Amino acid sequence: MVLSYRVQHEARLTEHSDYMRVLIISDIHANVTAFETVLRDAKGQWDYVWCLGDVVGYGPDPNECVTMLRELPHLCLAGNHDWAVLDRLDIRTFNPDARRAVDWTRESLTDENLQWLEALPVTFVIGDYTLAHASPREPILEYILETKTAADNFPHFETPYCVVGHTHQPMIYELFGSFGDVSMNRPVYGQPRTLNGRRQIINPGSVGQPRDADPRAAYSILDFEHNIWEHRRIPYDVAAVQRRMRQHRMPDRLVARLELGM
Ligand SMILES: [Zn+2]
Repeated sequence: MVLSYRVQHEARLTEHSDYMRVLIISDIHANVTAFETVLRDAKGQWDYVWCLGDVVGYGPDPNECVTMLRELPHLCLAGNHDWAVLDRLDIRTFNPDARRAVDWTRESLTDENLQWLEALPVTFVIGDYTLAHASPREPILEYILETKTAADNFPHFETPYCVVGHTHQPMIYELFGSFGDVSMNRPVYGQPRTLNGRRQIINPGSVGQPRDADPRAAYSILDFEHNIWEHRRIPYDVAAVQRRMRQHRMPDRLVARLELGM
């Protein structure tokens, strides 16, 4: 299943080999308000979408988010929440609130959207970029939150750059010097940056549930041909999402964390 999807996507990517600008999104987490706001903000500025997974889980709009993404020219990877909904992960490792959200999401998704999730690949290599939801070493589960884990991951991909989500925190890890030292920097938003050829692991942050104490939706735009990367943040109507979550009786903590960005 995964293989056939990959072949199908490679064919599609070849058709789109002239695409130059990529909208990079991750961790939408069933938040269609944040997703729509990102699409509006980036309108006309990209030719193709890379989505790094966790399209569903936590939020109130799993079908709306999957359907909207499917209508865009895109490549999407599987995340841990996508797999949890498909019963491919033992959700005893999830906290109780996340588990409730997984159960609710599973019951809510249409068969068609579940099948789409089932076919998502776990990694993808395109040009200078290796893509994974979590890390190149453990594509579904590992959190890269500090330099040690980032350093351990550089030997696990061959391209100059690796793009991951999963932590919900925009970040740039860069390999420098000859001893495998790694720097860790928060991005400057709205400032295009030419990737300098030094190996990097780059996280665009989360569209639908940021966790860096900034509730604004995060996404990136990449000029694929010239390797120019721009991190962005954009406010969206958090209260509207929270109202829908309360209507679905989703856990209070999940409702509250959206406005905290935690
Ligand atoms: Zn996530």
